[in-house]
Amino acid sequence: MRLKDKIALVTGGARGIGFAVAKAFVAEGAIPVIADLNEDGAREAVAKLGKGLAVGVNVADAASVNAMVDTIMKEYGRIDILMNNAGIGGNTPFLDIGLEEWNRTISINLTGAFLVAQACSKVMAAQGGGKIINVASLSGQRGGHGRGAYGAAKAGLELLTKVMAVELAEHNINVNNIAPGAIETEMAKFAHDKPTRAAYNYLIPMTRYGTPEEIGDAAVFLASDEARYVHGHTLNVDGGFRAAGLMFRGSKAAPPA
Ligand code: NAP
Repeated sequence: MRLKDKIALVTGGARGIGFAVAKAFVAEGAIPVIADLNEDGAREAVAKLGKGLAVGVNVADAASVNAMVDTIMKEYGRIDILMNNAGIGGNTPFLDIGLEEWNRTISINLTGAFLVAQACSKVMAAQGGGKIINVASLSGQRGGHGRGAYGAAKAGLELLTKVMAVELAEHNINVNNIAPGAIETEMAKFAHDKPTRAAYNYLIPMTRYGTPEEIGDAAVFLASDEARYVHGHTLNVDGGFRAAGLMFRGSKAAPPA
């Protein structure tokens, strides 16, 4: 019960990583707020979790974000934890990215995360503190093929996490970042075709995709008091993908054809 009675907002919590994190938070005693573009999905998620509040939100829209925060404040009067998770995938090669796709990706994955983090930080500063976990990506640390817009947005979010950590420490707001590697969700199904999957499985020392529940476990740690002196940190949850160098393992594995 490390998060007992904490009001935990999870954006993009209707499915995938967000839902698994909300489930992990609930298992530790938190009261979840599931905020998602898919409002019906958010309601279904709350029904599955057995408690909490569902809110429809478009994180890329400032008015919608403010309305979400107002709704939470009317219901609970505080926000203790923010899992800043809503995002969209992207898989378009650099030469083909159109301005519309670029702007859409940045507006949801970077500007959207900024809008939610700022609105929640104001609440947390006024209430005397809180916990924020931004969700970036390994694609923000390495130059993955097709990850131009997506990777640039996530790299920006990782840097924003550091600035937030510097500026929000005096408000007792603890800020960190989780960077998932390849995690088995709808987003991965959309962005990863068969050859991409083979390439990931070769490049990941643990030779498999991660599960949303494995992100949930990491998020519980960062949301708990146990992580009180972990601040401005990016926790990669990636099966060793970021750490890997030479991957030739003799006959045990070969690069995908
Ligand atoms: P997912 O299965 O696609 O779920 C994302 C959720 O966010 C969906 O419910 C989606 O709603 C919602 N959403 C999308 N745009 C939104 C918006 N503008 N406002 C509010 N909600 C919105 O994705 P996931 O794989 O769980 O990814 C979650 C986070 O982890 C993302 O930030 C992603 O970039 C990051 N990540 C994922 C992976 C991976 O391998 N899966 C790796 C690294 C990082 P709709 O269903 O209506 O679109």
